[in-house]
Amino acid sequence: MWKPSTGAAMLTLCPGILCSLNGIHVTSSSSGLRVRGRAHCHVASASVSTEIAKNSAGLRGRTIGCVRGWSSAGRSQSFSSATCFGAMKSRSGFTSSGNGDIRWIKTNGDDTSNQTAGVVYPSKSCKSKSCKVAVIGAGAAGLVTARELLREGHDVIVFEQTKSVGGVWVYDPEIEGDDLLGLSQDRKRVHSSMYASLRTNLPREIMGYTDFPFLPRDGRDGRRFPGHAEVAAYLQDFAEFYHLLDCVQFSTSVDYVGSCKDQNKISWKVRTRRRHQTDDVKEEQFDAVVVCNGHYSQPKLAEFPGSSSWPGVQMHSHNYREPSSFTDQTVVVIGNAASGEDISREIADVAKEVHISGRTWSASVDFSEPIGQHGNIWRHSTIECACEDGTVLFAEGGCVSADIILHCTGYFYHYPFLDTKGEVAVDENCVGPLYEHVFPPSLAPSLSFVGLPWKVVPFQLCELQSRWIAMALSRKIDLPSTQEMMDSVESFYAELEASGKPKRLAHNMATTQYDYDNWLADQTGSAPVETWRIQIFEATSKNKRANPETYRDEWPDEELHQEAFARLEELDLSCRLTVECIQQAKL
Ligand code: FAD
Repeated sequence: MWKPSTGAAMLTLCPGILCSLNGIHVTSSSSGLRVRGRAHCHVASASVSTEIAKNSAGLRGRTIGCVRGWSSAGRSQSFSSATCFGAMKSRSGFTSSGNGDIRWIKTNGDDTSNQTAGVVYPSKSCKSKSCKVAVIGAGAAGLVTARELLREGHDVIVFEQTKSVGGVWVYDPEIEGDDLLGLSQDRKRVHSSMYASLRTNLPREIMGYTDFPFLPRDGRDGRRFPGHAEVAAYLQDFAEFYHLLDCVQFSTSVDYVGSCKDQNKISWKVRTRRRHQTDDVKEEQFDAVVVCNGHYSQPKLAEFPGSSSWPGVQMHSHNYREPSSFTDQTVVVIGNAASGEDISREIADVAKEVHISGRTWSASVDFSEPIGQHGNIWRHSTIECACEDGTVLFAEGGCVSADIILHCTGYFYHYPFLDTKGEVAVDENCVGPLYEHVFPPSLAPSLSFVGLPWKVVPFQLCELQSRWIAMALSRKIDLPSTQEMMDSVESFYAELEASGKPKRLAHNMATTQYDYDNWLADQTGSAPVETWRIQIFEATSKNKRANPETYRDEWPDEELHQEAFARLEELDLSCRLTVECIQQAKL
């Protein structure tokens, strides 16, 4: 049950405006909401227990805010105070200490079931420290990291090697044509692994950042599972909305990041190079570096006997863009995860035969029958060997004479620029040691990684991770000691081993992502993941498993979808109104 804790105070905002404002002064008057001061805006959606509405009896139908003390029992971290709104009104039962986080809620008349609420995070007024931070990469992780860092008052430079924001979502028709398997370190690099027809495998209402709804826009791809261009446009919108483009240095790749220790203080030397201008090299010192370089660009290959002498064409899905070159070919696709399944179906439209080799089929799988509507896709177990006459033999006993082997086998974490003097390494595709997948204990909080977990809803997870980092850097959150963080990592590895999982699954959060998100939410004082998000994620996963060919266009959870949509539209409006208020205040 939610109860306002000691040190809480209520404040009244003007009716009709649903907003939250961080570190700025708000007054309500008969003419509406007035805003003074300068700050970054924040709206985080949340379903708040009906107890709030009960506590705010008499205020129903109006938008209210509530300021409450932070150090409530049971929280593992404590915060210092936040700047409170200017026109705060004490109400009986609450004292106005001016300390704490700020919560707001809109109630709709007597209907307390459909509330929208959010949290304003403590501003940097009191115990806070501003750092000069380098963010590597302007994809989904780097952009939200920049926003969270800016909100906390840090100085931020985002280095992005390409010409645009969006990372993997910026479709690039180029491929690494000189090295289709990505074996050579010196090959010409292409970052994005998107193929032309790719549509998201998550519905848009849970895929976007929690406080910047991924809603359809006029004249754009409005599908629930849109194509890659729509995601790229959304990320561009996000960057523009939060004025992030001002702090991105485009066409600038980070070539080297190294730590310097000076009297117990760690700082970072960052060497960058303007792309295509080898002489334009620059070195700068930063207090902190956040690594957001993505992990879907360095191909990981299947290994099987005879691979190097097999005469056909081998390529990795990183270099797959469209199916025309597979016309009339017999193709072996290695990997039955999302990309393997989707690409197999696309290729099957033009190929003679497609044979998917997987290691995670269910025990009841029938290898003798073709699958799906195409009639030319077969499943197989792992490859036993590939022969010089072009034959590929499978472990279950099947064999096929193939023209192309397409590796849809995932990617390696890859940090060619990072020199931590051995403090962080990639071992069996596990990046470590990292406290909670983010901080190397000995270098925390000055070095951090965003977006490592996989089999997750990534944007929301990156949002929470980066908020944690931003607050740890500003010293609003105290991390555990180096030894405690190290112990935590060790026990995580021990648990992994005890459960029989290989180290390469260390960042796989298929069954743990929401616990992890909620842990991060708790650390940062954010709202826990809303139930409807989890319900939609689970409904989508189930539908995807049952109907892999149609789940993007037909779904049984239409009611949930509509409900989520309505909430997001309301949140979207509040987000835009809030920013308008702030912009007006700045004028
Ligand atoms: P990226 O998007 O890869 O961004 C990293 C950025 O860092 C890039 O812009 C890159 O140019 C830059 N960079 C890298 N190295 C350097 C350097 N040295 N110097 C400067 N800049 C550098 N997620 C979903 O939520 N839904 C989906 O449906 C979905 N489908 C996917 C399909 C495919 C084929 C792939 C590959 C991924 C998919 N994902 C999906 C996951 C997707 O990766 C995440 O959604 C998210 O975009 C990851 O963002 P990121 O910022 O971590 O990485």
